[in-house]
Amino acid sequence: MNGDCLFCKIVAGTIPASKILEDDDVVVISDINPQAPLHALVIPRRHIATLNALTPGDDALVGAMHRAAAKVARDKGYADRGFRTVFNTNAEAGQTVFHIHLHLLAGRGLSWPPG
Ligand code: AMP
Ligand code: ZN
Repeated sequence: MNGDCLFCKIVAGTIPASKILEDDDVVVISDINPQAPLHALVIPRRHIATLNALTPGDDALVGAMHRAAAKVARDKGYADRGFRTVFNTNAEAGQTVFHIHLHLLAGRGLSWPPG
């Protein structure tokens, strides 16, 4: 737990969020500023600032994050239509919260390349 971290506080329940799914590894919440009909954030319970800080010991956690995203997409009916999962890393990619989180976007056509 990082006391200054918004997502650590959401995981701990000290800041409220709209939770979609929780398990031992992750908490999935609705993004407060949704960019698509479904915009969820898969947040690991453990604080990791950016993908640059990952170690081999985090491999299972990163896998669990992707499985959680796919489960939410499936539960919401987007598995066959399609969905996008994105990690933003550091400033130029638009990372604003420095606790890794996997964006899950679905429900509209998503252009490529992303902006
Ligand atoms: P990023 O810019 O990749 O770091 O993504 C951070 C995301 O967190 C943005 O999409 C924000 O809209 C979202 N966000 C920020 N504060 C909250 C909050 N309190 N609850 C839910 N989502 C949030
Ligand atoms: Zn954190």
